[in-house]
Amino acid sequence: METRALIGLDLTELAGLMGALGQKPYRARQIFEAIYGQRLPSLDAVTTLPGSLREQLSTAGWDVGLPVMAQTAVSVDGTERYLMRMTDGETVETVWMPDGDGGERGDGSEAAEEEAGDVETAMEAVSGLTPSFWERRANGRGRSNFGTLAEKGFRRATICISSQVGCAVNCRFCLTAKLGIRRNLTAGEIAGQVVSVLNRHGIQIGKDRINLVFMGMGEPFLNYSEFMKAVRLLVEGVGVPESRMTVSTSGVLPGIEAFARETLRPKLALSLNAGNDQVRAEIMPITNKWKIAQLLEAVRKIPLRTREWVTFEYVLLGGINDQPRHAQEVLRLLNGLRAKVNLIVWNPGPGIAYRQPEPEDVGVFQKMLIEGGIATYIRRPRGRDIYAACGQLKRTVAEESGLVAISG
Ligand code: SAH
Ligand code: SF4
Repeated sequence: METRALIGLDLTELAGLMGALGQKPYRARQIFEAIYGQRLPSLDAVTTLPGSLREQLSTAGWDVGLPVMAQTAVSVDGTERYLMRMTDGETVETVWMPDGDGGERGDGSEAAEEEAGDVETAMEAVSGLTPSFWERRANGRGRSNFGTLAEKGFRRATICISSQVGCAVNCRFCLTAKLGIRRNLTAGEIAGQVVSVLNRHGIQIGKDRINLVFMGMGEPFLNYSEFMKAVRLLVEGVGVPESRMTVSTSGVLPGIEAFARETLRPKLALSLNAGNDQVRAEIMPITNKWKIAQLLEAVRKIPLRTREWVTFEYVLLGGINDQPRHAQEVLRLLNGLRAKVNLIVWNPGPGIAYRQPEPEDVGVFQKMLIEGGIATYIRRPRGRDIYAACGQLKRTVAEESGLVAISG
């Protein structure tokens, strides 16, 4: 019998299930607390429930149903990439980044302020690892698996979550695009990635600072309702504040419009990646459907909270979108918006014919935006050696389909 996952059910659905089993409604709250609050991995562990109810549930095929960490790759920089297997055998990737990748910097939030003084140069972003990282790693040696993140030598950690198996959007620079779309993830599979990773690292919500970025495989806004349901479960059940979550979209207009109406929602990041529709359409064909002006108009309508900024991601592709005239265009577009820019040096992938920008160009681009009044950060590439960096998910499936020559 296929497992029926409890994870993913909200309080109302759990109450419905209890009703159907002839149980008291308060049992729903106990299960909710056990799977999201206590993050228990199996029904056997839910000792707040009477044995008879656990028995009843398991006879009907129910269990917590967390995704299984089928493979783990650990980078020299501390980043970990997990292959997560769902109950039907489909897999996605989830990434753990102790100390984050700088993506939260300067957005005015608490998470950003923790980053003060931790800035990489353009040269370091292109070459990969940074001196500050090596120092931290040396300092962190000998840390144990117990205790809070801080006790382990980290100030915080970021989990990068997938929202779909593959992606339908087809951005030319992204490896995930090569997989096409296989299916949407359910809310339980999205929230389950977070729960599994938190459990692996023994994270204590409230003590440890955890940021969630919905920037893994897939386009969250093409799986809108399950993605938003996962967000609510993570906030209300697991206890991660919404202010510590960021969702990135490639620019799905109806998604941005719906997002603007949400009362509980993460912060938004838009993958801008070009300053005009022509260049953007070449690298992101989705631009043929929704133009930059439409996307920005929708973004302007989002009621921003205090200390909230909208992030614009900008993948720098050598010779394509990394020249001073492009920076000028970006400045014009973002004029008047409460925006910050995250520059991402393109991470190479097999079979993708772009090149990385010159470090000097990255520096000039950043300087121009900053001088134009936009807080602009260079995202630190994380876990490149294990193919965990932006746009490198998911190599494993690519390998299976013969897309990638395995080396090393
Ligand atoms: N699908 C969503 C979120 C996942 S991609 C989106 O596209 O926004 C997260 C970020 O990685 C996006 O900003 C995307 O532009 C960027 N990205 C994709 N491929 C990349 C690559 N090879 N190198 C660097 N960044 C990449
Ligand atoms: Fe999909 Fe984002 Fe990759 Fe584009 S960049 S193909 S939207 S995962």
